[in-house]
Amino acid sequence: MGELVRVEHLKKYFNTPAGVLHAVDDISFSINKGETLGVVGESGCGKSTLGRTVLKLIDHTDGKIFFEGKDITNISKRENHELRKKMQLIFQDPYSSLNPRLCVYDLIADPLKTFHILKGEERQKRVFQLMDEVGLSKRFTYSYPHELDGGRRQRIGIARALALKPKFIVCDEPVSALDVSIQAQILNLLQDLQKQLGFTYIFVTHDLSVVRHISTDILVMYIGVMVEKSPAKELFERPLHPYTKGLLSAIPIPNIHHKKKEIVMAGELTSPINPKQECRFAARCPFATDLCRTQVPTVSEVFPNHFVSCHHVREINGI
Ligand code: ADP
Repeated sequence: MGELVRVEHLKKYFNTPAGVLHAVDDISFSINKGETLGVVGESGCGKSTLGRTVLKLIDHTDGKIFFEGKDITNISKRENHELRKKMQLIFQDPYSSLNPRLCVYDLIADPLKTFHILKGEERQKRVFQLMDEVGLSKRFTYSYPHELDGGRRQRIGIARALALKPKFIVCDEPVSALDVSIQAQILNLLQDLQKQLGFTYIFVTHDLSVVRHISTDILVMYIGVMVEKSPAKELFERPLHPYTKGLLSAIPIPNIHHKKKEIVMAGELTSPINPKQECRFAARCPFATDLCRTQVPTVSEVFPNHFVSCHHVREINGI
């Protein structure tokens, strides 16, 4: 499997009245074709901004983005428009992104119209094929978004993303707004589609347990920076960064014989606005030293394909 997406030292800063907000600060990774990168972290840590910047839906501040081996960092508007056929976004809340005046058929036909893909009967066939692929029954063809439940609305969002036959999809909290019973159905659908159609995903979520089974690799973000990245199984079995350990300890285990001690992450949240020269997790880290409070840690490969950004990763883990 070759590489599809690569990001090098990506930064996205926002100018705000209070100062420069470092939403994404020097993040690098690559994703192979057909694989899924789970991006996890608390609300506001920059996950959505990262996903949208990689898709080139918002401008980057610094760094490079490669897609299919081509540098797409500074492409023209026309090239960016063409890129939409290959790169798509699935939203958390499809309801707010679906035009309430269009029925299911028109909503799914919409991207085909915008890109002048197929006409007449051929387009109609494609819309019904997409409805079938995402598990939307034909009886909903002329239903409007407000007449459908959250799961079906998310299926419309997925069908719209699939319409142009993309290769790469950023799924931004695609199940967070759904009932638990429906979450599993949508996750299964996204996985089945990946197997059948070979998609490559970035899967953004605040909930580590959601990405556990669907990710090839998991990247953990904390206030704009990557604190840890490793193969999914390895991250759960051998978390190395104190923040990842804290996140994992907060996931309930459905087993009364296996009681975990929850690591409480106390302390103030560091501001992403004009951040100081320090580890951004230092204020909440039980292992923080003066070094952590005065120097930004660099990312190091502690085990093969297991990257951590922590001054004291070796002492903390007895490596
Ligand atoms: P997440 O997806 O992890 O919840 P976001 O990417 O939405 O986080 O936001 C990361 C940070 O960037 C937050 O502090 C947020 O307030 C800020 N942010 C996001 N978009 C903008 C914007 N357009 N202008 C200013 N700040 C923004």
